[in-house]
Amino acid sequence: MPEALAFFRGKIVPLEDARVSITTHALHYGTAVFEGIRGNWNEEQRKLYVFRMREHYERLLQGCKMMLMDIPYSVDDLCGITIELLQSCAYRQDLYIRPIVYKSEELVANLKLHELESDFSLVTVPFGNYIEADGAIRCRTSSWRRIDDTAIPPRVKISGHYVNSILAKTEATLAGYDEAIMLNQDGNVSEGSGENLFLVADGAIHTPLVSENNLKGITKDSVTKIAAREMGLGIVERSIRRSELYLADEVFLTGTAAHITPVGELDNRPIGSGDQGPVTSRLRDYYLDIIKGGNPDYLDWCAEVPMEA
Ligand code: PMP
Repeated sequence: MPEALAFFRGKIVPLEDARVSITTHALHYGTAVFEGIRGNWNEEQRKLYVFRMREHYERLLQGCKMMLMDIPYSVDDLCGITIELLQSCAYRQDLYIRPIVYKSEELVANLKLHELESDFSLVTVPFGNYIEADGAIRCRTSSWRRIDDTAIPPRVKISGHYVNSILAKTEATLAGYDEAIMLNQDGNVSEGSGENLFLVADGAIHTPLVSENNLKGITKDSVTKIAAREMGLGIVERSIRRSELYLADEVFLTGTAAHITPVGELDNRPIGSGDQGPVTSRLRDYYLDIIKGGNPDYLDWCAEVPMEA
């Protein structure tokens, strides 16, 4: 039987025992850095694969550097802890894996990061689709602008900056759309509330630069490499204006949770045919196979969790 467990204060404990105090600094100020990683169950092989685990932990440690957080673990240590937790939980299904480094000090009135202790915790939960809609989704340009690197660095996953994404996602879904597309302060396209964005026009793929204040996405990196290797398509990173999205042949979003999600409509205008386009469709097929360890050419992206038969 799978067990709900967490890695908490240096050891694996029942999930219900992994609790923090109401005075924890991170709860009051969003002073935490986290990751979202997927564990993908391959039913045919009866194996669980963690997708691009190293790259996620590298980004986590980059966030720690920005937030002056010291934890006594290297990328190798964090990968080892993750594998150990997944072996102990013994889930045989798709999972979401959530590591978090947080300012754990139980003292609220101190705004000096360098004086505050940090701790690392890890949980994993069964996880299916993030975006519920089947096929191409309906998006809306958010009235909330993407936070700027001059305010809070958006390229890493700092908990506090997710208020920006959450305001945008909430606005879009309350208005009946599936997802928000955010512009930055200059009016350039930045990203979705939890996904990077690509457009296809005249057979070429384009995506905003990281300097447009989006997260440095690992799925984005995977898509870039798959497009080049499997389809001979280079990706142009450049500034993109909102109106270009309306006129694109295809738009799609990428993220660990959202995989590759086609955008069929933006601000009530159909994009291309209004359905999943051919480039998105091919990339998606490759991607969904690769993350489950189904493509031998990409097994170095997939860490297998050794499990008892
Ligand atoms: N942008 C934001 C704001 C996100 O939260 C995510 C999800 N982590 C992404 C983009 C996609 O990043 P990744 O492909 O690394 O999951």
